[in-house]
Amino acid sequence: MQEQIERLRHHLSQALDVIQEADRERSELLSAVAHEIRTPTASILGYVEMLREETDNNLEEHQREYLEIIHKSGEHITQLLDDLQDLEEVSSGNLSLELDSVDVEALIEDVSDELYPIAQNYELTLRTEIADPLPPVRADENRLRQVLLNLVSNGLKFTEEGAVTVEAAPVGRSDETDTNLSAVRIRVIDSGIGIHPDFLPRVFERFSREKRTEHSGSGLGLTISKELVERMEGTIDVESTVGEGSTFTIVLPAESENGEND
Ligand code: ADP
Repeated sequence: MQEQIERLRHHLSQALDVIQEADRERSELLSAVAHEIRTPTASILGYVEMLREETDNNLEEHQREYLEIIHKSGEHITQLLDDLQDLEEVSSGNLSLELDSVDVEALIEDVSDELYPIAQNYELTLRTEIADPLPPVRADENRLRQVLLNLVSNGLKFTEEGAVTVEAAPVGRSDETDTNLSAVRIRVIDSGIGIHPDFLPRVFERFSREKRTEHSGSGLGLTISKELVERMEGTIDVESTVGEGSTFTIVLPAESENGEND
């Protein structure tokens, strides 16, 4: 019996080595392929930009449209590569976060300023409602920015008319010992097409996109956002009603004045 267990343990350990090796090779292949695609794509984008500038005045309307399509496709490839690399990093545990005290109001205003031209372009209202006072959160500022940019741009993408609102307010939360801790809740609320109840449970899964929605996208943004928020010890949830809109809610631990989680 003892011998059988030993043999089994040996086989399991060998199998684990094989899996780890395969995973490492997969990861290296992804990086190599991403690099090989990124370089020529950057070159295509660069030449398209030069063409747009140089020949602006003597291009036919349809030729200008072709250039726009090539440019959009190039940007789409770059975004897809960024998403794949982010996903690889977060899911392999190789992503290192720089956790620090983050001023949520300043961050939300930044994100809102960045996306304001897109909202204007779609004739949508983009507003922020920030509670005062609001404690800072403990998070990686750049990664939290990435999550908020993703949620707000989704809100704008999937809303035909109305508004996208970003709210932030302090809330209580409890840990396993049921102690009350303070946290900050950020909500991104849109008045858009909503998410079908059949699709809603899969919305954070990788590569999942609702067929009803026509927009181009990788279906990775929400997967990455969820991984990032959870790595920051937060939670992310969604509620949605078709035809009325969606609300994505993030809760992150507040940072107390002595620089630790409250
Ligand atoms: P992408 O937007 O790049 O396709 P995401 O992971 O960000 O990838 O979103 C996955 C899918 O979830 C979208 O394709 C869309 O079907 C749905 N979705 C996300 N956000 C919203 C929203 N605010 N309103 C309606 N549907 C949404």
